[in-house]
Amino acid sequence: MLRFDNVSKVYNEGFKAVDSVSFEIPEGEFLVLIGPSGSGKSTTMKMINQMIPHTSGTIWIDGKDITKLNAAELRRNIGYVIQQIGLFPHYTIEKNIAIVPELKGWDKEKIKARVSELLTLVGLEPEIYSSRFPKELSGGQQQRVGVARALASNPSVILMDEPFGALDPITREQLQGELISLQQKLKKTIVFVTHDMDEALKLGDRIAIMKDGKLLQLDTPEKLLHEP
Ligand code: ADP
Ligand code: ADP
Repeated sequence: MLRFDNVSKVYNEGFKAVDSVSFEIPEGEFLVLIGPSGSGKSTTMKMINQMIPHTSGTIWIDGKDITKLNAAELRRNIGYVIQQIGLFPHYTIEKNIAIVPELKGWDKEKIKARVSELLTLVGLEPEIYSSRFPKELSGGQQQRVGVARALASNPSVILMDEPFGALDPITREQLQGELISLQQKLKKTIVFVTHDMDEALKLGDRIAIMKDGKLLQLDTPEKLLHEP
């Protein structure tokens, strides 16, 4: 469960990028955050993992105020997938996925098994891809690795900030389909940012619309489509 209570972010110059936003995402819900550029979507996401601290209000994860969690707890609880995939080019695929499990001190065998399981889950054969380097994979395959890496520590919340934004339309559509089936299996709490309404309608259990730092509406795709 993820909850915002009157959360605001004021940047240094006194500019309110996020303005008194409140919402609650039940466990296992796929929430899409949509809005024009500059509406506060990325700031909202970055406050959830405290990459950016909020100025006021309270953010709760599983009943805990996130300012009471330390960096390691945040990393364990929250997986993050971004548009600029961000795989380390000089690490193999296996090593890229193993980063968080290694930080957690898992033993080698357990990590190897987990990496294989995750690669299989995102549709990449471990025997073929574990030992490759990122540049030897297509953009779509790299983004699958990005998803696998975010899942590695079994976080309760996964943040995806325009994860498919840099992909060609066909790969993008394929990964959207894969994410839907993955979510049916995993039932994670997901917050997914996009500025593409088609993508939002396709993926979201509910859609939150942001504008000028405010949450304008939060509803199911059906309600958004059928009510003016
Ligand atoms: P979105 O993700 O919807 O495009 P952002 O959250 O990135 O929106 O930005 C919201 C607003 O806050 C924008 O006007 C942006 O210029 C401003 N902003 C974002 N980050 C900073 C920052 N570090 N310092 C000052 N202003 C910022
Ligand atoms: P995103 O692609 O996630 O929306 P941006 O390109 O808006 O990110 O911003 C990239 C980085 O620059 C972020 O860390 C954001 O906080 C920061 N940033 C965005 N807008 C401003 C701003 N007006 N002043 C200072 N930093 C900003």
